Amino acid sequence: YTSRRTIGEQRISVCVRKRPLTNAENRRGEADVVTAHDGDSVVVHESKEAVDLTQYILQHRFNYDEVFGEESSNVDVYLKTAFPLIQHVLNGGKATCFAYGQTGAGKTHTMLGCPPQRQGLYALAARDIFTQLHSTQDCGNSAVTSHVYVSFFEIYCGQLYDLLDRRKRLFAREDGHQVVQIAGLREVKVESVNSLLEVILWGTGERTQGVSGVNPVSSRSHALLQIQLRDSGHRATGRMSFVDLAGSERAADSRDPDRLSRMEGAEINQSLLALKECIRSLDQEQSHTPFRQSKLTQVLKDSFVGDSKTCMIANVSPGHLATKHTLNTLRYADRVKEL
Ligand code: ADP
Ligand code: MG
Repeated sequence: YTSRRTIGEQRISVCVRKRPLTNAENRRGEADVVTAHDGDSVVVHESKEAVDLTQYILQHRFNYDEVFGEESSNVDVYLKTAFPLIQHVLNGGKATCFAYGQTGAGKTHTMLGCPPQRQGLYALAARDIFTQLHSTQDCGNSAVTSHVYVSFFEIYCGQLYDLLDRRKRLFAREDGHQVVQIAGLREVKVESVNSLLEVILWGTGERTQGVSGVNPVSSRSHALLQIQLRDSGHRATGRMSFVDLAGSERAADSRDPDRLSRMEGAEINQSLLALKECIRSLDQEQSHTPFRQSKLTQVLKDSFVGDSKTCMIANVSPGHLATKHTLNTLRYADRVKEL
């Protein structure tokens, strides 16, 4: 796609964020093989070996709606990704923001932010939602009074766990109006950004429990945070969803000797493929959205129908050891948007 439309006007935007090398990567002397250019393109310098064993560099260039280099802050990323969706949500629409990428590439840093401030997309979006709600409510129009509710759950191996209710197992079903409902999902009413952050941090703590193993559960599960607006009659109006996806490298782990890991990998693979198809269907006058192909896309059904808007942030690591996964991430993000 050549014409650069403004994010927020279009229904899908696909962005890439490159994080800086970590201290550990610097100590190991890892080379930075990713270059962000002109705010909308990224080049990966892949080192290859020819048949005569000489080294050469293969360059891969990709274009997206926005590319954020290692110097960009969460605020920079927020302003061009989730912020354009907030007005749509305040007008009663549905919007979803995904963080995609290899474990360690910066998904949680983007969404939740780092301690102590936690100025990630969750908090920045909540701040704007509260500010705008208060400014309209100050105008004295009580009919538009909105209340903010938050829910936070995890999808692990195709099963739902409520992070705000001691990892209670949840079940999704479609009601008579083809609306997917998650029965018993806990919604917590919040009145400020700080209370929303408290709730999220509580839920984040729940993520590390449960299944034990070498790899943290957080890399093997999708975390879905939903900020739901309700009017004074408790009717659902706008909704902003944030999805911190399972590590995309897990999807490729089909040769893992451990059976559980292989099952997890197959499940993650299935859900990420379905996600790509569902997002693509938003931009194509497609009558069939394959949202039933995974639990992730099923519970996000209304993110893929009607006038929903979606933003994907593909996070990449800069280091040369991650080149293969970085290229996989960039190709995935490319295909989400390719028509
Ligand atoms: P993921 O959630 O994708 O597994 P994390 O968000 O946990 O990855 O990031 C891995 C590490 O890199 C963390 O230590 C995090 O603080 C650091 N990091 C990620 N993105 C950035 C960034 N944009 N700037 C600085 N540090 C970052
Ligand atoms: Mg993470």
